[in-house]
Amino acid sequence: MREAGRLLGEVLAELRELVRPGATTLDLDRAANRAIRQRGCVPGFLGFEGFPRHLCVSVNEEIVHGIPGRRRLRAGDLVSLDCGLIYQGWWADAGLTVGCEPIRPEHARLLEVTEAALELGIAQARPGNRIGDIGHAVQQHLEAGGYGVVRLYTGHGIGRDMHEDPQVPNHGQSGRGAEIREGLCLAIEPMATLGDPATRVLEDGWTVVAQDGSWSCYFEHTVAVGAEGPEVLTRLPA
Ligand code: MG
Ligand code: MG
Repeated sequence: MREAGRLLGEVLAELRELVRPGATTLDLDRAANRAIRQRGCVPGFLGFEGFPRHLCVSVNEEIVHGIPGRRRLRAGDLVSLDCGLIYQGWWADAGLTVGCEPIRPEHARLLEVTEAALELGIAQARPGNRIGDIGHAVQQHLEAGGYGVVRLYTGHGIGRDMHEDPQVPNHGQSGRGAEIREGLCLAIEPMATLGDPATRVLEDGWTVVAQDGSWSCYFEHTVAVGAEGPEVLTRLPA
């Protein structure tokens, strides 16, 4: 899991650099496929429940599960990259939202607050805590920032499969839910909207957007619960 995560961090660091005006979302997908295979890994998303690409790219009001295609990025866009790979049978799943610079100050703040919410959620992933502690920390921080917290899509356990028990919601109550034990691996993935967090799925059957069209962002890490606390497996190299 550690190695899978490290390699995915490298892949995402490469992809982040490719987010610029004029690039298409399919350019990012091709780069993801290359970067994953170069590292001896399998692109986990390709064919997953029928997903047709190697990477989810979700732009602006798209929240998650966007399918790469001919869309051309423009300055000011918020581009969410979600990637999963399999290394020797073990999964890693992570992502981030990258601004296609320059972006508006209120969008930069949305990114900062959501990434901070992820870190606060991660800090709760320690033995003896409960899954609700993670969601509570994420929700508190996003709502204090004035953002909507997407409820329909959640984080998850991860290991031999991408989606394992338990679900890890981005909202919750402290002290509730499954107990967090040493050795558990979790993908924690807050999704925040500038407006109402209600979502719908586009006609392509995949792309999740905010019903009110408000822009959104998302950050995700795969995290292992150690005896002393959380270890982020998918940290991006500087
Ligand atoms: Mg993901
Ligand atoms: Mg995930």
